[in-house]
Amino acid sequence: MIFQLSSRTRIAAVLILLFTVSSAQTSVPTLLGNVWAMAVLDATTNAPYVREYSGFITLNTATDKYELANVTCGNWYGPGDDPEMKISARPKDIPPNPSPLDKPIYYVAWFHTHAPLYRADFHEDGDGRFVGPSQEDFDASNHPSMKLPGFVVDYVGEPTPTGTSVILVGHPIDAPIMIYPITPPERRPLP
Ligand SMILES: [Zn+2]
Repeated sequence: MIFQLSSRTRIAAVLILLFTVSSAQTSVPTLLGNVWAMAVLDATTNAPYVREYSGFITLNTATDKYELANVTCGNWYGPGDDPEMKISARPKDIPPNPSPLDKPIYYVAWFHTHAPLYRADFHEDGDGRFVGPSQEDFDASNHPSMKLPGFVVDYVGEPTPTGTSVILVGHPIDAPIMIYPITPPERRPLP
């Protein structure tokens, strides 16, 4: 199945994970930063249109490395359009039913970028947008076909008195970003 997620609604409180996730996983933030760079390039070279990237994080037990997989992007959207990203259901591990002698690739998380929006006419209230995971993002993580932690790549933003963070119209497109975790209440079944 394909989730159609809107970026218009943002939840009030988000847990924030700094860009360096941990010393043991430095490659994942670097890889997600590369995907963000593609989204920035898209926005810069196709203004006023943007698109959001998504995909999965796998653990390759043959190499002991985390990798990105199934990376795709949503449709282009512009002023007045609904923001869109696409994520499929959690793919089967490779192989799907590993034996103790296999060195499987496990799907351990999903991710998506939010669009590098910086134009006033993209914003629902005219002066900015919330940053971080939306309620739809949390729902997608906990969907029966997903049940995986997720990561959202988005701007750090500026804190507001209500505890949220926002980007305001005119913020630089290369403003600092963060990786925001999404922890679902239930995880995928163990292999
Ligand atoms: Zn999102």
